[in-house]
Amino acid sequence: MAGPRGSSVPEKTGAAVLRLLLRHERPLGGSELARLLAADTGTRVHANTVYRALRWLIDGGRVRRIASRRSYAAIPFDAQGDFLILLCSRCERATHVAAPEIVRDIEAAARRAGFRAEALYLEMIGQCPHCRRDEGAYAA
Ligand SMILES: [Zn+2]
Repeated sequence: MAGPRGSSVPEKTGAAVLRLLLRHERPLGGSELARLLAADTGTRVHANTVYRALRWLIDGGRVRRIASRRSYAAIPFDAQGDFLILLCSRCERATHVAAPEIVRDIEAAARRAGFRAEALYLEMIGQCPHCRRDEGAYAA
């Protein structure tokens, strides 16, 4: 995934941003990413550099914007295609589940209404199995 003009800045920062997102397992905002990167590298990281890297990662299908949290999450290698993002309101963990049939139904409904979709955010907020188990409510 080379930059459009051979620039290596988004690639280098992008790789570091992706490592941070994979390590944290929860969506992170742009300024939080800049702070964490600065802590890792010991140098100041501008938010614009982070946003350029995020754009590069989104275009490459490695990161997804989490609309309801104004943040970003890494897309796991096994979650390519159409998926629903489950966001835990307690531990903030983001889980990707394949949902091609839901996306097809939603897009068909939009087409019937004469609407041409440009973006679709499928995010569900609730409690993950780990947090439900902690409160003794998860028996499945
Ligand atoms: Zn949780």
